[in-house]
Amino acid sequence: MLTFDHYLTPTTLDEAFDVLDRNPGARILAGATDLLPWAREGRAGDVHLSAVVDISRITQLSGWAMQGQDRITMGAATPIADFEHDAQLRKQVPILAECAVWFADDQLRQQATVGGNLVNASPAGDTQPALLAMNTHVTLARREMGKILERTLPLSEFILGPSKTLLQPGEIMTRLEMDALPTYGVTFKKVGDRRSMLISNVCMATMVRVDAAKRKIEDVRVAIGAVGPTPERLGDIEDLLIGAEPTAALLRRVAGGVADRVRSRTRRTYRREVLCNFVERSLVVALGHAGLVVIRQPKEIGHV
Ligand SMILES: Cc1cc2nc3c(=O)[nH]c(=O)nc-3n(C[C@H](O)[C@H](O)[C@H](O)COP(=O)(O)OP(=O)(O)OC[C@H]3O[C@@H](n4cnc5c(N)ncnc54)[C@H](O)[C@@H]3O)c2cc1C
Repeated sequence: MLTFDHYLTPTTLDEAFDVLDRNPGARILAGATDLLPWAREGRAGDVHLSAVVDISRITQLSGWAMQGQDRITMGAATPIADFEHDAQLRKQVPILAECAVWFADDQLRQQATVGGNLVNASPAGDTQPALLAMNTHVTLARREMGKILERTLPLSEFILGPSKTLLQPGEIMTRLEMDALPTYGVTFKKVGDRRSMLISNVCMATMVRVDAAKRKIEDVRVAIGAVGPTPERLGDIEDLLIGAEPTAALLRRVAGGVADRVRSRTRRTYRREVLCNFVERSLVVALGHAGLVVIRQPKEIGHV
């Protein structure tokens, strides 16, 4: 069980650093959907903290805005529910709305934050592949000599492995910056052991933009999660597809080459099969959403 001496609710970043300074060993909390289940038997066990610092009331850590024409800046404490319910955000980053549908349930999505999902760095974190494919950078703030200092780094460097990131003690993730991709066809796929509230065994985000004639792929982004310690962008597949006129045979060939990306030691054969099928199917669906229909022959369905 998680117990603590103080529950602190700063409303500004400065106040948050004040309470972190005054309470050595304090732990930051956003939605608490990872922190609370972590402190229980079978995981961390009983945990007592001097203080928890609830950052969910700091307004500058939530909400989003366009940054120029092509990038979005988003507060780290933005709840996953916003991906689904904010119509403007859905338009700019439709892949996050797709991802939210698969994320826990309505209640959890109101609490769980995007920053918490990245700092927790679970290999099964569902936002990670989509954010990786959107060239996301994260900004981390600390206070030194009374001044708030920031550093910004690519998400691809931030997550080092399960529960390991470059976040240093005393730092708060304040915001994310990512590509806005409003004209892309998108799909998010996920499979787990249960029918609902599932933890990903494989998850995948796919985004594709096609030319005006709906014949060629102009840009494609594919990233996978839950099959290794960190999410991975499939840049080699993207390179093969950009500029191509996709056929069922091409998508099948491309998908056939991804089996070796499974780095997890458990359920490897299963994960490999799912991953290959996900890649092929995701590309077909995302292309369809972008207006380019690839017809698959029945004999071509399936990889095994
Ligand atoms: C029933 C259930 C179902 C779930 N389903 C899914 C799912 O489908 N997909 C999925 O990916 N996850 C799922 N999760 C996991 C969890 O909901 C997510 O990882 C969520 O995004 C965590 O966000 P949070 O705000 O609740 O994090 P918290 O629990 O508040 O924090 C998690 C960690 O991040 C740190 N932290 C949080 N925010 C910051 C910040 N801004 N700066 C610095 N440190 C910070 C905290 O100190 C803590 O170490 C599920 C959890 C539960 C309990």
